Amino acid sequence: MAISLPSGVFSKYNEAIVLFERTCKLVYPEKRTECPNCIISTIGRSSRSTSIYRSGGDYPFPRGMPCPLCGGVGYKATLSSDEIPMRVYWNRKNWVDVGIPIDVPDNVIQTVADMTHMPKITRCQYMELQEHKIASYETFRFQRMGSSYPQGFKQNPVKYVVNFWERRG
Ligand SMILES: [Zn+2]
Repeated sequence: MAISLPSGVFSKYNEAIVLFERTCKLVYPEKRTECPNCIISTIGRSSRSTSIYRSGGDYPFPRGMPCPLCGGVGYKATLSSDEIPMRVYWNRKNWVDVGIPIDVPDNVIQTVADMTHMPKITRCQYMELQEHKIASYETFRFQRMGSSYPQGFKQNPVKYVVNFWERRG
């Protein structure tokens, strides 16, 4: 039998959650764009510049020199990231119950975010969190562990996603 709760309970609950939210930075895997200015050779899965000018490129260069556009690397790497609000729990005593026993090392934190952020959380390579220390900010880096756990009461219009993150730096 479903328990019926007045909807006001959830708006208070959702407000309280916002108070504990922190801004977390999700960093996505590096995207590599092939250099348009030199010829790339691909051996197996790795590709590199042959240091030979590709006709039509904007920066002609003599043979034997590294390509001036990519520095001889053969690609341009771009990093993208997003900042999202999440509740962060360092202390496992405060962790939200995800319904199954979680056996994790001590350097693991739990986050709770709005469900709409789940695709970003799933895509990110790592997450960065700034913690205020006595006189400065320190940045911690975390890697997502395991699955995302949906959390929310049936009657609450706002759904949440619970994640576990292992500290990596
Ligand atoms: Zn190049």
